[in-house]
Formats: sequence, structure tokens, C-alpha cells
Amino acid sequence: MRVHVLGTAAGGGVPQWNCACPGCEGARAVPSRRRLHASIAVEPEPGRVYLVNATPDIAEQIERCPWLRPHGRRSPLAGVILTDAELDHTLGLTRLREADELEIMATDAVRKAVGEGLRLEETLAPYVRLRWRDADGASLVPVSGKRPRYARDFTDGQWVSALRIGGLLYAPAMGVWPAGFGADADVVFADGTFWDDDEPRTSGCSEKTATEMGHLPVLATRERLAALSARCLYTHLNNTNPLVDPDAPHHAELRGVEVASEGMLIAW
Ligand SMILES: [Zn+2]
Repeated sequence: MRVHVLGTAAGGGVPQWNCACPGCEGARAVPSRRRLHASIAVEPEPGRVYLVNATPDIAEQIERCPWLRPHGRRSPLAGVILTDAELDHTLGLTRLREADELEIMATDAVRKAVGEGLRLEETLAPYVRLRWRDADGASLVPVSGKRPRYARDFTDGQWVSALRIGGLLYAPAMGVWPAGFGADADVVFADGTFWDDDEPRTSGCSEKTATEMGHLPVLATRERLAALSARCLYTHLNNTNPLVDPDAPHHAELRGVEVASEGMLIAW
């Protein structure tokens, strides 16, 4: 089993095009601080590579992943697994329209939002056949009922999941900590969107707290992650999170939890 980290930022990336906060300005000044939207490539068995979430950066992310080099007109990409239906995790599907067929694993709620809310089913039909299926050999653990804003009129469902595949647990967004979360995992990626619960309000990006936005902040999860026997890493960092600055003192307060960086390879 191996994982390649392809992106580690929350919506907007770092820097975000319309923002001059310290995190964004730092990334403009120092290119190594730039972060693409959160995504990983996972290879649960040799030769079968899945992308977890389809971000607006997907084409560049595929180019950066040596496991996804095409042979002739054939790509080793076996499919895309969606952990939620947010725009930053689904818009990349349109960039894959050159395929004949695309296998996508997602919950029913996510499938309906992407198909009917974003109308991607209809829009992409003349280009590529979308083949929706249950997450085979993997499971999608519910971690939040937060609907994307564009899907506000859709019914309740399993909107946000953690992906469990082999010893990997990938949870770029989690509004709750499910019982037993990570207990038997080898590697855990957890929601690192915000440092503390008030960050969205103090930074001016929202009136809501981090938890109300569906993201448990780092301060609410670091102890619990540190208590797991798994290797734990934060991903999906918002540009306002002080952890986007590698020199921030906050890194010393992570209790051994790491911050994921792009290009990271983890195999076990
Ligand atoms: Zn910013």
C-alpha cells in the first residue's frame, strides 16, 4: 500500500487568488510554501491507482505523480474516490473528460449532488461515461452532514466521509470525531483546515466557527491523534492557518502530529 500526497490546501489553495493574508503573501514570496488543493493518489494494490478527490488542480497533480504516467493512450488511473461533494473536491472531474469512461466511488448523497446539483452527469455525457459505484474494498465513514452550499435544497445524507482503505484513513474534512476513529489504522490524514475554532471569524473568512463550518480545528484533534498508534498528518490547510508558515511556533505544539507536504510518499 502506498500513498502520494498531491495537494494539502483547503478551498482556494495557498495562495488564494483574492487574498493577501500573511499565509497567502508568504506563499507568493516563497514558492515552496504554495499548496495545491488537498488530494492524494493511493495504490492499494500494484498497478491500481486511485485519486482521492478531483480538485481544480487535478491535471497538474496527475503530472506530478509518477504512478499516473500514461502508456500510449492508456492511463493507470483506476478511478476517483470522492469524500464529499464540495467544489474543491469535484470540479476536477471535468478535466478528465478525455477518458472514455471514468469510475467514481462516492456516497449516494455525493453522487446526486455532483450529478444533478452540478449537472456533471448531463454535461459530461457527450465526452465521458461516468460509472458510479460503491467504494469497493474501501469504506466511507460518515464524519459530517454538512451539505455543499450549492446543494442546500438536497435532502440529508452522508455528505462528508473519511475514506478507509487498507490501513489508510483519509479525512480532509471532519466535523465530528467518530467513535474509534483511527484506532486500527496505520496512517491517518486528518482535517487541518483551521488551527482554532475562532479562526474563520478572526480572519474574516466566515461568521461561523470552524466546527460550525464542518471542520474540527487542530486544537480539538491533536491530542486525540497523538494518542493513536498510527502515523498522523494534517492536510487540507486553509490559507489562514498559521501552520502554512513553516517557521510558525505552532508546529512545536502538534504533539508529534505532522503536517503533510506535497510530494510526500508514504508506503507500508
Ligand atoms: Zn489568504
